[in-house]
Amino acid sequence: MRFSRFFIPTTKEMPKDATLPSHQFLIRAGFISMEGAGLYNFLPLGKIVLDKIKKVVKEELDSAGCNEVSLSIVTPQSLWDESGRASKMGLEMLRFKDRKGTDFVLSPTNEEAMVNLVKNRVKSYKNLPINLYQINTKFRDEARPRFGLLRGREFLMKDGYSFAANEDDMVTEFNLMEKTYRKIFTRLGLEFRVVDADSGAIGGSGSKEFMVLADSGEDTITVCDKCEISANIEASKREPKKPYGQAPEAVFNKFKTPNIKSIDELSEFFKISPFYTLKAVIKRAIYDDSDEIVVFFIRGDDELQELKGANAVGANEIVDASEDEIKEAGLVAGFVGPVDLKIRYVIDSEVRSQKNIICGANEKDYHFVGVDISQMICNSADLIVTKEGDKCTCGGTISYTKGIEVGHIFQLKDNYSKALNATFLDEFGKSKPFVMGTYGIGVSRLVSAIIEQHHDTKGCKWTAQTAPFDVDILVSNIKDEEQLKVANELYQKLLDANIEVIFDDRKERYGTKINDFELIGFRYAVVIGKNLKDGNVELIDREGLNKSLISVDDIYKRVLEELS
Ligand code: ATP
Ligand code: MG
Repeated sequence: MRFSRFFIPTTKEMPKDATLPSHQFLIRAGFISMEGAGLYNFLPLGKIVLDKIKKVVKEELDSAGCNEVSLSIVTPQSLWDESGRASKMGLEMLRFKDRKGTDFVLSPTNEEAMVNLVKNRVKSYKNLPINLYQINTKFRDEARPRFGLLRGREFLMKDGYSFAANEDDMVTEFNLMEKTYRKIFTRLGLEFRVVDADSGAIGGSGSKEFMVLADSGEDTITVCDKCEISANIEASKREPKKPYGQAPEAVFNKFKTPNIKSIDELSEFFKISPFYTLKAVIKRAIYDDSDEIVVFFIRGDDELQELKGANAVGANEIVDASEDEIKEAGLVAGFVGPVDLKIRYVIDSEVRSQKNIICGANEKDYHFVGVDISQMICNSADLIVTKEGDKCTCGGTISYTKGIEVGHIFQLKDNYSKALNATFLDEFGKSKPFVMGTYGIGVSRLVSAIIEQHHDTKGCKWTAQTAPFDVDILVSNIKDEEQLKVANELYQKLLDANIEVIFDDRKERYGTKINDFELIGFRYAVVIGKNLKDGNVELIDREGLNKSLISVDDIYKRVLEELS
């Protein structure tokens, strides 16, 4: 491809609101352009990269036995009513009416439509398992579209769905997808982690996310310095904390604690370690059609993980309770404890068997001492945020790192097939709902994620499988006939060898061409310039911007070697 024939509108101008390198470079280098908030066009270079990613994804999925389909992006809202998600999806799902007044949505994901596709078409266990996927446009009216392709409103997703006859087969398919995703992200040249993710009500290890490691990632991941365990902070587990500091020795008793409200004040007052105090976090839990005040009890030195809290009570989310709501619920802020508490509460699993706890007495200026939580009848769940320095279950030490979620695999079981009445006949002729898995990859997000992980101050550094072109032949002085001749010959030879090569034949200054090379991030540049009088050209690799002088006679061979 000749650069002069290519639409690559590079610019020095920094796009407004672009804070991340990938967002700045992809726009400045002419890969994408913004059409509106969270809406992007792919220009020729961007389209090449996107297609390369799609190709890797497709090749690996096809060889894992998945079938590609393409579903309509518009789906009837009635499907979403049937699954019960129409109310849950909220404003992220864009809804509209057609001319007859029928309600439709722009697909934010496609579980319903995919179940509907398979329903009544796969009738017997003999035809299972099957795994269908598409690489298709999704629309989510994100509250805060940002960071370019990382969080768009319209974006490209690979969404896959497996249908099996039983849970064992579902797990086999889930594990196959994990293996396949690992291959995909490895081929794309990414450093990534597979982390345990929140699996809501389903629990267990039925949900994993694929995180591209990058400082700018929106997700916090906990990693262990000894073992492979890593998790999204929302799902991270730790070895229960060991007791430390002064322990209170007391029989159950009510104690006057005037104005002692915070954990610090409490442990100071009793001269004990916060390990033995109980913190009450008061929240309003929001369900589909109702809400209620719930108290979460955790150790004084821990923090509540909100998603764990919401899961523990089956809420869609939990939010801070206002002062008025706390009062209305009959709670005395600063003095809330689980003993004889009249409203719903959950205790963190780590404190569940704890004796000698000091906690609020549900009365102003009073605390209980000597509380034996192990004797109480109450609900408990893992509620706490794993912190840096906490111990992993293997004994190693946990630290944080940042990641960009580029994939998510999830064991759905029969949630959707049941709701949509999608069944097959098992080997005994009994009707059963499909046991499903769902598997997503953020295909357009990956374009940005690659650059977040692979860039320098000058621009993009595409990986081997994703570079729009491998070699950029750059003629320093287009008016120099000798330079032009050598460039043309090399260009033709590389084309004949099926090398992805672009020939910068523009009537631009050398400085402009080299800046564009660095900004766009082709893997190599061959500069044909003033060294030609000594029979040499310059080879530059984009990774380290190392330059080497190579004789004209050797450059073709050398380029092939570099790319092999
Ligand atoms: P996030 O937590 O980032 O919002 P999600 O949990 O909503 O992601 P899924 O519903 O699991 O995402 O979608 C599958 C994949 O689609 C994600 O792993 C992510 O890579 C990608 N994705 C999700 N939302 C967006 C978006 N707004 N823009 C670009 N890619 C997205
Ligand atoms: Mg989301």
